[in-house]
Amino acid sequence: MDGMMKQKTKKRGKKAALEPRKQKRKQRTPNLQDYEQFRRSFRWEDAAAELSGLPGNKGLNIGYEAVDRHAESHLKESLAIRWIGEDGKRKEFTYQQLSEQTNRFANLLRSAGIRKGDVVCTLTGRIPELYFSALGTLKNGSIYCPLFSIYGPEPIYQRLHKGKAKVLVTSSELYKKKVTPILDRLVHLKLILLTDGLTGVDQNHVVIKCFSRLMSEASESFEVVETDAEDQALLHFTSGTTGMPKGVVHVHQAAVTHYMTGKYVLDFQPGDLFWCTADPGWVTGTSYGILSPLMHGIGNLIVEADFDASLWYGILEKEKVNIWYTAPTAIRRLMRINIDVRKEYDLSELRLIHSVGEPLNPEAIRWSEKNLGMPILDNWWQTETGGIMIANYPGLPVKPGSMGKPLPGIEAAVMEVSRPEGKGIRVKPVKTPGESGELALKSGWPSMFRAYLDDEERYKNSFAGEWYMTGDLAYRDDEGYYWFVGRADDIIKTAGHMVGPFEVESALLEHPNVAEAAVIGKPDPMMGELVKAFVVLREKAGENEEELLMDLKGFARKKLGSAVAPREYEVVEELPKTRSGKIMRRCLRDIEMGKLKTKKKVDGEIPYG
Ligand code: AMP
Repeated sequence: MDGMMKQKTKKRGKKAALEPRKQKRKQRTPNLQDYEQFRRSFRWEDAAAELSGLPGNKGLNIGYEAVDRHAESHLKESLAIRWIGEDGKRKEFTYQQLSEQTNRFANLLRSAGIRKGDVVCTLTGRIPELYFSALGTLKNGSIYCPLFSIYGPEPIYQRLHKGKAKVLVTSSELYKKKVTPILDRLVHLKLILLTDGLTGVDQNHVVIKCFSRLMSEASESFEVVETDAEDQALLHFTSGTTGMPKGVVHVHQAAVTHYMTGKYVLDFQPGDLFWCTADPGWVTGTSYGILSPLMHGIGNLIVEADFDASLWYGILEKEKVNIWYTAPTAIRRLMRINIDVRKEYDLSELRLIHSVGEPLNPEAIRWSEKNLGMPILDNWWQTETGGIMIANYPGLPVKPGSMGKPLPGIEAAVMEVSRPEGKGIRVKPVKTPGESGELALKSGWPSMFRAYLDDEERYKNSFAGEWYMTGDLAYRDDEGYYWFVGRADDIIKTAGHMVGPFEVESALLEHPNVAEAAVIGKPDPMMGELVKAFVVLREKAGENEEELLMDLKGFARKKLGSAVAPREYEVVEELPKTRSGKIMRRCLRDIEMGKLKTKKKVDGEIPYG
């Protein structure tokens, strides 16, 4: 990256005196021209018919739709993946080459006895091996489960163990730092593949092999395993409020949503180069950072380096990115940096900017119109929905601050929810525009999750009859646009990432000095929310409090990793609780935001402070 950065700095200096560039953008007619009309006539069957299906009518396979069908077509020699490494190194793969690499990985799995239905995880940065593994796993009929490389050992353990993962693809460094401390407990794991050419020493139950050596020994021909549209394809973990992460199960049928949203929301058109900045460790980085663009046979740009404003602008310019999918946290960081984009960069190839993951403030849209020459199109979805559900579309006027309108084929509603004792959940659509309630989606779209792993009860409870209850609060205006209000539960969204308070609290409680812990999302101008912990100590720490907190901070970071560990701590004497002893995180949040005073009875419950 250093090399690239130096080059960029020089270039920026030279350009600084130029007048704002006349960014002549090539106009393209969007795939979706008349939202209302298309919505009326849309049928999922028609979208599904645009996929190929496995040869000989042998079902549907996401890996085949993303790779092999293009490798067998006129797109064979077209760019599938352009990878830019942290050191500026580049690698490109055509659809034909991607097919060969993913075949090798599928053969490698087959030789190791990994079959249909077995779970294969990746824990790496954004390197080509991750993409070969994900797509090769799908072609082998196995289940792909991405893990985020900035997790600490404990979140990694929870996910690998719960997912009963048999294979883990990782680097030697991540293996040493994050996997060895939990290896003994990973009873289902059989094979670890190290991506950087090294071989480890086999452990009791796990064989450790070199990724590239096995890849080079494997054949580059492979017949995609027959999979039914309802066979499991992807396993994503997402956070809950009351327990450890939930495994969200998706099937091959999800390809229909990936494809459809790529066409009508992201507006993929032949010859486009697309860049999704999300890490595949999160669902956006898989559905849209890997699958959707490849299903359209366009070029997918992968950048290994993390956020850096001039690097990012430089990439948009130099690579001639046409469609860019990013997140509000990144946009807010760009807004803070004093770069006159229009003077310094030629972004005339950029046609569309999309955003997801958190509320996108109206200021961000105005900033983007002024500085990038177009509005950012916000869209909304969740791990459970598998793909975009509510969106701003290239052909539809943008209302800054709104998530847009439901995808054609998706019926959304704002519900008034009641939970009468022992009678489950009751919902009634809110009639008045502007009145908020819980956002619900009528079940049955192709990428709807099919289960929470090993938790039927929780799955059942997330539906009210035919409505999937999203856990988000929203309202709908009189023109049918949806507006995000907040979460209906305690889940934290920090820098676009879901963090479950329970998972963090459990880790903090393992520290010998912590008696009780409660974790909330504290509003933060950059990250949306930051993770804040309130802790009750076992003994009064007195003057040692600062030292103790430092120790706790280090402990939490080591266990949970930097994406999940609290950024702020506060020592309290007592936590607010309900009569049944449940911690009232909402009340802590209100106190934090100054809406509630401490040392006061809260709804007649145990006083706080
Ligand atoms: P995840 O399952 O990690 O993708 O997170 C999904 C959650 O992120 C949603 O339930 C929302 O709370 C939040 N979210 C996603 N997109 C948006 C958006 N455009 N505006 C506001 N919140 C969003």
